[in-house]
Amino acid sequence: MFFYPFDYTFVLLIPALILAFYAQSKVANTYAALSRKKARVGLSGWQVAQELMNALGLRIRMEEIPGSLNDHYDPARDVLRLSSTVARGTSIADYGIVAHEIGHVLQKREGYSFFALRSSLVPIASFGSQLALPLFFIGLLFALRPLMDIGILFFSLAVLFQLITLPVEYDASRRATMVLERVGLLAADEKPLAKAMLNAAALTYVAATAVSALQLIRLLLIRGSRD
Ligand SMILES: [Zn+2]
Repeated sequence: MFFYPFDYTFVLLIPALILAFYAQSKVANTYAALSRKKARVGLSGWQVAQELMNALGLRIRMEEIPGSLNDHYDPARDVLRLSSTVARGTSIADYGIVAHEIGHVLQKREGYSFFALRSSLVPIASFGSQLALPLFFIGLLFALRPLMDIGILFFSLAVLFQLITLPVEYDASRRATMVLERVGLLAADEKPLAKAMLNAAALTYVAATAVSALQLIRLLLIRGSRD
């Protein structure tokens, strides 16, 4: 990610990188701790997804994918993909993750504006974020200012995308809490644990956004120092 030589602006990134590291380890630790708390209702994550969808009148194709914490809803194909650990897991953490993904399904169904905007930006954002730093670096190396500017423009799009992701993720977790409440799979003492899982996951998005925002400031500073 950091192609160009070390310079003083790198210092800017340190707090954000610490936050990102903290958030990543917190979500992993929270999942590890909460995955030992088996839900008393005893269903697997896969079954919970089916229960929630039945309760909400949703019919979505589901797939199990290898891995852990890579669960997601693909709005383009309308497929809910659950990681093996979550699909087969019976812990409160697994239920929280499933409910969060169902939250995204509801966002699409209800035409939640930030979700629609985010989905439409996915191709541009992934294209832009891959090209941004190489373009900026080549521009820096050969003193081609327009290329540096295009790199910064692409990077700004990626930051914008992450900013739009924040309300989408918080809203999905809010919906997750509501859905779990409505379906009543969790007992009163189990609900706060599902919420703790959702909060830990949300922090990783905040951290990622902070890293990108500071990285953008850094690019602007480097660009400014070449004038
Ligand atoms: Zn999400």
